[in-house]
Formats: sequence, C-alpha cells, structure tokens
Amino acid sequence: MAQTNLKVGVTGYPLTHTISPAFQQPAFAHYGISACYRAYPVQPDDLPAFVESLRAPDWLGLNVTIPHKEAVTSLIDRCTATAATIGAVNTVFKDGDALVGDNTDAHGFLTALRADGDVDPTDARVLVLGAGGAGRAVLVALAQAGAGHITLANRHPERAQRLAQSLSTVLPAATALAPWQSPALDEAARAADIIVNCTAVGMANGPAPTKSPLGPSAFRPGQLVFDLVYTPRRTPLLHHAQDHGARVLDGLPMLVYQGAAAFERWTGKPAPLKLMKSKALAALGG
Ligand code: NAP
Repeated sequence: MAQTNLKVGVTGYPLTHTISPAFQQPAFAHYGISACYRAYPVQPDDLPAFVESLRAPDWLGLNVTIPHKEAVTSLIDRCTATAATIGAVNTVFKDGDALVGDNTDAHGFLTALRADGDVDPTDARVLVLGAGGAGRAVLVALAQAGAGHITLANRHPERAQRLAQSLSTVLPAATALAPWQSPALDEAARAADIIVNCTAVGMANGPAPTKSPLGPSAFRPGQLVFDLVYTPRRTPLLHHAQDHGARVLDGLPMLVYQGAAAFERWTGKPAPLKLMKSKALAALGG
C-alpha cells in the first residue's frame, strides 16, 4: 500500500453530521498510515462520476450512507455475498483494480448484539422495527445467525411486505408481519427475546426525535431492546424499555464495529477497536 496522502471517507447526501471521521482518522494514525478520512457529500446525480474517481491509486476506499447504499451496487465491479443478499453496500474497498462493495452493518449488528448485548440470536424470537436499509441488513444478519422467529413491522406496511418477500429465501419460515402501532405489535414485542429498532424514530434531528416506536407496555424483564439510533444514546424507546425491566443497547457499538470492519477491508490490519470506541464516545460527548 502506498503510504502518502491516501484518500478515504464517507459519502451520502445530505451529510450533515457524521462521527465516522472522529473514530476512523485515529485508527489510521495508530498504524502511521498517511490517509485522510473525510466526509464527501455527493448529490445522487454526481454519484456515478464520484464512484468512478475511486479508481485513482490515491483512493483507499469509501463508506456509503443514505441515500446511496443501493445505488452504489450498480456502479462498482462486484459485491460480496453479504452485500448482494442485503442489496446494499456501506463499504467500498479495492481488490487489485476492482471496486468491491461490502455491507459491514450486518457484521456490526451481530457483533454488538453478542459482545455488548450478551445475547446469541440463534433460535431467538426477534421483533424488528423498520424496513429501510438498516432493517434489511439486520434481517439478513438475523437470518444468517439462525434466529428462530422474526416479526417485522414498519410504518408503511407495504414496504415491510416487499422486504419480507424479497428476502423470503433467507428468512426463517417463522417470519411474520405486524401492523404498526397496534395491539398485535405490542404483543409481539412482549413475546420477543430481542427487540431491534431500525427506524429513525427517536433520533435527534430526525423525523420524530421525542417519540418511541413502542409504548411503555410493550416490554418485559429478560428481553434485550437494541436501538440502532446512537444520537442520543438513550432514546425514548430505551427509556421505556429500561423503566420496564428490559436490558438495553444503543447503536454506538454497532457503529464502531461496522466502521472497524471497513477499516480492516481497506488496510488489511486489525482495527484498533478500543481506540475507535473511545474516540466515537468522545465525539458524542462521552
Ligand atoms: P432508511 O432506509 O431511511 O429507513 C428509515 C426507516 O425509519 C424506515 O423504516 C421508515 O419507515 C422509518 N421511519 C422514519 N420516520 C418514521 C416515523 N416518523 N415513524 C415511524 N417510522 C419512521 O434509514 P436506515 O438506513 O434504515 O436507518 C434507520 C436508522 O438506523 C437511522 O436512525 C440510522 O442512524 C440508524 N442506523 C444506525 C447504524 C449503526 O451503526 N448504529 C447503522 C445503520 C443505520 P417508512 O418506511 O414507513 O418510512
């Protein structure tokens, strides 16, 4: 690998706030790799030319976020099996001259669930809220990990239906849909071993920052509630869950693990996880 002025970063649009540079840059510095990780806001029309520019030798790779995760799949040379199954790419790396797309969200989710949530999803009963890009990656991860039963709910039910249909070959036979904000959803939540929020509800500066996707009666002791949102770290959902005896996990560990896996694709070196975690925490204000 050339060691001077390598380019690497994250693209999305709009890219108002991203903490990825705060924990990726120190990882490069840790190995003395002369690379600059920065945010590249790119409008959808400009994405093809931007992705093509990655072929220049000074580009190391890229993280990809909303709204480009699906569009980028047709602009690169190939996808890993996981990215192809998910149908979305969050990391582009180089294999010789080829641009390869991977999806490290699934790995980040499972690592956080196991290492920080202390739960193995194998044979578990899981409720997944949200059928956007994150919901897709989480469903594939749960299916690959052998979850026993999955219930999926989304505000716009037709999107959940389409997603379940498109993943029907990988999802467990015991996969069900539940209507958004319904008694059936609360029941599925109470029955679940693991509840995962993959919606933007509860996210600061998002569409519903003060709301929770589930009411207070949806929780019970003994279950884990995992909110992918990490700003704030304690969302209204996690407050409700904690108040009713459930264990909770926020989205920060997943963010760091998906970024760490991307770092490893770009550099071939083990990610300095402790350092990346502490820098991500500091970027969120502790
Ligand atoms: P996305 O593709 O835009 O999907 C957004 C999801 O949120 C959809 O399910 C959407 O439902 C739902 N939603 C939005 N506003 C809503 C509202 N007011 N009420 C109910 N549902 C609403 O986004 P994404 O990439 O899946 O990301 C979703 C969240 O996960 C974001 O907060 C993101 O920051 C977080 N995330 C975290 C990590 C991590 O590493 N921790 C990784 C990826 C994503 P409809 O389909 O009905 O609109």
